[in-house]
Amino acid sequence: MVDCCSAPGLLPFDQAMEKMLSAIKPISETETVPLTQALGRVLSQAITSPVNVPPNDNSAMDGYAFSYQSLQHNQSLTMVGRSMAGQPFQGQCELGQCVRIMTGAKMPEDCDTVEMQENCQVDGDIVQFLAQRKQADNVRSMGEDIAKGQTVFSAGRVLTSIDVGVLASLGIDTVKVYRQLKVALLSTGDELKQPGQPLSEGDIYESNSHFLQAMLDKLGVEVIDFGIIEDDEQAIQNAFMLADKQADVVISSGGVSVGDADYTKKVLCELGDINFWKIAMKPGKPFAFGSLPNSYFFGLPGNPVSALVTAHQLALPALLNMQQVAYQQPVLIKAKTESALKKSPGRMDFQRGIAYNNAQGELVVKSTGSQGSGILTSMAAANCYIVLAQEQGRVEQGEYVDIQFFDKYLQ
Ligand code: AMP
Ligand code: MG
Repeated sequence: MVDCCSAPGLLPFDQAMEKMLSAIKPISETETVPLTQALGRVLSQAITSPVNVPPNDNSAMDGYAFSYQSLQHNQSLTMVGRSMAGQPFQGQCELGQCVRIMTGAKMPEDCDTVEMQENCQVDGDIVQFLAQRKQADNVRSMGEDIAKGQTVFSAGRVLTSIDVGVLASLGIDTVKVYRQLKVALLSTGDELKQPGQPLSEGDIYESNSHFLQAMLDKLGVEVIDFGIIEDDEQAIQNAFMLADKQADVVISSGGVSVGDADYTKKVLCELGDINFWKIAMKPGKPFAFGSLPNSYFFGLPGNPVSALVTAHQLALPALLNMQQVAYQQPVLIKAKTESALKKSPGRMDFQRGIAYNNAQGELVVKSTGSQGSGILTSMAAANCYIVLAQEQGRVEQGEYVDIQFFDKYLQ
């Protein structure tokens, strides 16, 4: 019999990502939400602008509007009225005349240029123009920000706080988005206690579900917390079956390696399919990806740093993909390392680093120190990963390395 848990060797990180993304079928159900609930949601259709922004030519300055032609021969014009934001000038502004105008106010019909008031001298209704100017100076053209009918955002965009503002500026008050994913969280381990509870001998506080919940909140998914599950095969099986019924994705942590109390893989094999479970990365070698009857499954390692890094580097892109967000390669930047970095060929490393500009203005990075996979504060102290390729060996001080700045999901 083929044992699905004994997949040989370690899968390179890029291949794991590829396998996962090609196995995942994105959700297709959509819903309409008000703009106030749109932050972090994923657009299911492109947004085209129903209006011009700005809706008409208007002034970029407090000053005086006129026809450029008027100033070909004159340095003084007669003021014939005012155009205020929301209260446009209704009359005619002929050659030799100008209109007092405020920032954002509609340009009078016959005017094409504005002079800022600091460059004018006013005596009664006579305005003297003191500076040189060009035609169309200080005028914001109709539609210069967004033209009516223009595609503003494509489907698959995760709406940011800026986007919410842009949508509001178009007069849009509801958007069609993909429905939220439901993600079940389970923490396995007899030794785990929730914060706030007293610890017995040998216990530790459960932290994985807490940063996962916080990270998933930023992703805009709905989290169903199954709490702590004891290291018991039946209890884990029951929890997985229940979670599978309620969620699109089940994420567990702990029990995924090869210890005596590690039942996660076994249960996953019995209930569903394991796609892979050993990755050539550090931290995080034991990371299981597979499917249950109704959901996808991510089995994170128990060690907090490993759980956090695999959740961020692997589970998160997969979840985004499920939400119809196209996978984007992380941006890597070269920085000079100020610390020598221990590394053996064989696994891709995501070491924790602190990047900054040194006195010479160069981008440099230093290690946060001990890289143990239980030292969660090494992630808290860092602002970037130092990404070292699988076959890379030790790195000496002064060499250049790739860094990946922490993104919003870790902040
Ligand atoms: P495991 O993968 O279950 O063998 O766990 C590896 C290490 O991570 C052990 O030291 C566990 O106590 C610890 N661990 C497992 N789950 C959690 C959790 N949810 N929060 C904090 N530490 C954990
Ligand atoms: Mg355990």
